Amino acid sequence: MPESATPSRPGCALVTGASRGIGAAIARALAREGWPVGVNYRADRAGAEAVVAEIEREGDRAVALGADVADPGAADQLFGALESGFECPVLVLINNAGISSDNLTPSLRDEDWTSVLDTNLTAAFRLTRRALKPMLRARSGRIVNISSVVALRANPGQANYAAAKAGLIALTKTAAVEVARRGITINAVAPGWIETEMTADVSKVLLAEVPARRAGTPEEVAACVRFLTSDEASYVTGAVLTVDGGLAA
Ligand code: NDP
Repeated sequence: MPESATPSRPGCALVTGASRGIGAAIARALAREGWPVGVNYRADRAGAEAVVAEIEREGDRAVALGADVADPGAADQLFGALESGFECPVLVLINNAGISSDNLTPSLRDEDWTSVLDTNLTAAFRLTRRALKPMLRARSGRIVNISSVVALRANPGQANYAAAKAGLIALTKTAAVEVARRGITINAVAPGWIETEMTADVSKVLLAEVPARRAGTPEEVAACVRFLTSDEASYVTGAVLTVDGGLAA
């Protein structure tokens, strides 16, 4: 019988917000790389279970894990479930869960600010803090934070979202240098316009601003994340990789 081409991994992976869109594509890509994957969702259980079923059909391992990442207890809940379920440490964390709640700054409500910062930035900090414990013990780990091109290039109506995504880049760089000697890399990916539910209502007229003149796909973002989690990317840390058809260039 031929040997399986899928590498066997010493740990597992957690992808937040993986019930659809970019997170689902990342979960599928990591599973194909041999990582048992925790597919986190907040409300869309059916979506997360469909992603798990698809991964299992390919012969790989995944589990759906419901948790609102903005909840201060979510990090322990998710890591505990994965560590006992797969009986291995979480050595890959992808902070992907994100929401937007847009308005021009004079009209931005406190709750729009707080909910976006809590979900897109504070949750990533708490999950990163929790992830680093087993990674430091293993002297190995990969964290990828899904930021956005709007952290680098203004987009009117998104002050809260842009502040959270720019904060994510600062968190990425600072934490990356703190743990660089320990075999752990932390990077950010900054997608531009990617076709998902999040961008379903955005006017297609704006595509004229994208040098590639098209939207990207979740799979194109997932390919970059897969590279950053690979052994080949072991000397890449504290970096921000734009996946935006040239929008931020
Ligand atoms: P979608 O809206 O399609 O999917 C968002 C995912 O996040 C869903 O699985 C959703 O799960 C989950 N989620 C939202 N809030 C929470 C929460 N509090 N706890 C747990 N899960 C949550 O978004 P995209 O796939 O488009 O975006 C993914 C990431 O990429 C986000 O961080 C986004 O900001 C970023 N991004 C997207 C771009 C784009 O053009 N699409 C561009 C730049 C960055 P559920 O439905 O169960 O709530």
